[in-house]
Amino acid sequence: MAVVVAFPEKAFTRVSSRDKVGSTLVAARPLPKGTSVTAYGSEEIVPEPTMHTLAIRAGAHGVPRDGAEFVSHSCSPNTDLVAVALKDGKLETTTDAAVVHAVVLVANRDIAEGEEISFDYELNEWDMATPFTCQCGNSNCRGYISGFKNATAANQEELLKKATPLILSTVAAAPAAAPAAAAAATA
Ligand SMILES: [Zn+2]
Repeated sequence: MAVVVAFPEKAFTRVSSRDKVGSTLVAARPLPKGTSVTAYGSEEIVPEPTMHTLAIRAGAHGVPRDGAEFVSHSCSPNTDLVAVALKDGKLETTTDAAVVHAVVLVANRDIAEGEEISFDYELNEWDMATPFTCQCGNSNCRGYISGFKNATAANQEELLKKATPLILSTVAAAPAAAPAAAAAATA
């Protein structure tokens, strides 16, 4: 059943990142598991991607809410990506890629005040314009982060368990581009 999504006030603050190159977001206060931390696309959607947008649908890229454009990637993140659609003016969860209006970052465990907020970029990005070598330090770190399309078959299989409707629909539409993932999706 669809769940109505609401955002708490001041869930995060922006700080200089570990590598001092840019900024990152940390929890402004304890965020219990299940908290909707922030979202991409809930306030603005643009036709072309930028450094800070997140793909919502084909040709639709969500602008981050409340200056949340600096959420870090982690291969073992503390938020999940939850797709939502607009219904009667409210954001409700959906699994239908065609109607996704925004992607919400939902705490997948209790997040402590001051803890860096992260999500897994490859759960939503098919082929990233700016790939990078991950330094999340987790035992399951995939190393080079460049988009779902480019992940190994084993990693795609893991990613599919939590991937957004956009990825699931892309896999379904382009089995030749991701044979392993397509096989897993239809298994
Ligand atoms: Zn990593």
